[in-house]
Amino acid sequence: MEALITTAFIGIGSNQGRSRQTIERALALLGEHESIRVAAISSLRETDPVGYLDQPRFLNGAARLETELSARELLVALLDVERALGRVRDGPRFGPRAIDLDVLLYGEVTIDELGLTVPHPRLHERRFALEPLHELEPGLVVPGRGSVAALLSKLH
Ligand code: ADP
Ligand code: MG
Repeated sequence: MEALITTAFIGIGSNQGRSRQTIERALALLGEHESIRVAAISSLRETDPVGYLDQPRFLNGAARLETELSARELLVALLDVERALGRVRDGPRFGPRAIDLDVLLYGEVTIDELGLTVPHPRLHERRFALEPLHELEPGLVVPGRGSVAALLSKLH
């Protein structure tokens, strides 16, 4: 039987070290996963930090993945890549990080479990996450929140 393939969108961020190289490495590692295909990558943009303001600007983007993994398995794969690239969770929340990989959307599914909320709980209010999604797929909808385009226009 063929495994079911889901289209998922991930958010990518970095503001420590060589951000562009680290992001490229993260996407290469994800592409090496036997159950993940990196189908499209947005452009990367510099953004101002949100939440914890006293830190360097971020480089942010998003990618469209095709995957046989469940949302939980995909999160584990993202956290594995973060660890492989040396992310240490010791600083302030929303603070500087060499790499941050988030599950933004997983098909049209909504999940609210311990350690996994999909769509990402802050996606609808984060321009730095919505803009690259809009670039990848202008018609995209955030389940329960409305279209990416409408969410972006509310932020202007
Ligand atoms: P953030 O990405 O919000 O700045 P972290 O990267 O430090 O914060 O993630 C903290 C935790 O958020 C992760 O360990 C993970 O269990 C949880 N989490 C919940 N939902 C998601 C999601 N959709 N994508 C990524 N992490 C998530
Ligand atoms: Mg994260």
